[in-house]
Amino acid sequence: MPLDNLPVNIVGAIFSLCWFLAGLWAMKSFSENHKLHLPSLARSFMILLSPLLGLIGAAAYVFLTQQKQISDLIKAGKSASQKKAEKMDLTLLDEHGRDVQQKSGNQAGIPTVKKIIWDALNLNASDIFLDPKNDSYLIRFRVDGAIRVHSTLPVQEALPIISMFKVFSNMDIAEKRRPQDGAFNAMYKGSAVAFRAATVGVYGGEKVTLRVIAAENSNRKITEIGFSKSQFGIVNSALKIPSGMILICGPTGSGKTSTLYAMLSSLDYNLKNVLSIEDPVERVIPNISQIEVNSKAGITFASVLRNSLRQNPDVICLGEIRDEETATIAAQAAQTGHLIIATLHSNDNISTIVRLTDLGIPLRNIAAALQLSISQRLIRRLCPHCKKTAQLNEVQQSYCTTYNIPFDAIKQPHGCPKCGNTGYLGRIAVFELLTMNDNMRKVLEQPETTITDVKDYVESTLGTAALGSRIMSYVINGETSWDEYERATINF
Ligand SMILES: [Zn+2]
Repeated sequence: MPLDNLPVNIVGAIFSLCWFLAGLWAMKSFSENHKLHLPSLARSFMILLSPLLGLIGAAAYVFLTQQKQISDLIKAGKSASQKKAEKMDLTLLDEHGRDVQQKSGNQAGIPTVKKIIWDALNLNASDIFLDPKNDSYLIRFRVDGAIRVHSTLPVQEALPIISMFKVFSNMDIAEKRRPQDGAFNAMYKGSAVAFRAATVGVYGGEKVTLRVIAAENSNRKITEIGFSKSQFGIVNSALKIPSGMILICGPTGSGKTSTLYAMLSSLDYNLKNVLSIEDPVERVIPNISQIEVNSKAGITFASVLRNSLRQNPDVICLGEIRDEETATIAAQAAQTGHLIIATLHSNDNISTIVRLTDLGIPLRNIAAALQLSISQRLIRRLCPHCKKTAQLNEVQQSYCTTYNIPFDAIKQPHGCPKCGNTGYLGRIAVFELLTMNDNMRKVLEQPETTITDVKDYVESTLGTAALGSRIMSYVINGETSWDEYERATINF
């Protein structure tokens, strides 16, 4: 007898006993009230009948209860499976948009693969890492710029999953040491999401990195990326100029690409011929020509840029200026009737000018080409559900005293289920804008000007509009932590 039926049968037994006692009582009171003297046979018959009726009642009760339990279980099972199917709204597709589940020989690992992808997309992760570690594989996500552990898989479970990612991405599954790269797609809650996959043989196995490229329709508008009202005004005016250079600067993970795409999306494609050279094309923007760099095939930023100038585009977007040739052509193009929008890997606006001179652009050419330089950082926002008053060290306390900031205004992360115990939830984009005005042009154009002069001038112009001051204002408002300020400004 299954144990889970026990309570039901106890109830049945109690029922049966009740019926038996009720039968005896009924018979006794009936015979007494009616002064009946039943013969002993009839009395015996009624005594026998009472428990029988009790047993029938109890059996009926047990049967009906069990039926109800079974139907409840079926209902619960149905709704759970429906819920699961509705919840996991995810289809994995290859580079050409074909369902990859048929492509992969081993179907057993599909639920794990889908679970990893599903969890990563739900957390808005930008990267998924699979790393060999001793006898297992560590699955980690990069969320809001910080890496967190998702799970650990035993090697025998991880290896088929790695092969599956390689099949999806059109890689050679037999090649386990040489670096390989590829791509696959997914339909997630009705939107297309692209993944860039890269594998390389490392000590102890094969490392897999999956970069999540945001959904097609997730391109944010320029009003949505975090510019203040006055910053938005400056950026919007710069986008309307017919020629010049707009640079977006910051280290890796500072949100340059999002800003670049937001700016591109804001252009009027009906009136302008827009061409974008990218490595890789991360988001598709309708109505503009996007060209992907492929250095192996000789398609470089410089070569595409030189050729595309013949098509006389009004606006050229450069995914990144990273070499002297590209920098030179871009600066020339910006002075000859083209608007160049590009990203540059540098810490702030001052280092952008230094970087441009390093790439061989003289200060006077920078003065002529550059219109606007935008430096940015993405800082993590403290989780509003669990942030707590910070314990300040001596330096921090003296800073607060100097600037008349109450100690309890500064908050620090704590951790709760809502923020995955990280203490942070979401990010804040912080910008520093440097516009080329007549005064700055004069400084740059003077032949005796040195980089130090430029630094001094820019510092004095920016003042509290400088990136560091802006990030500190978020610390003082308790929106981010002192640690985040230090992390974001470490290279200043
Ligand atoms: Zn929290």
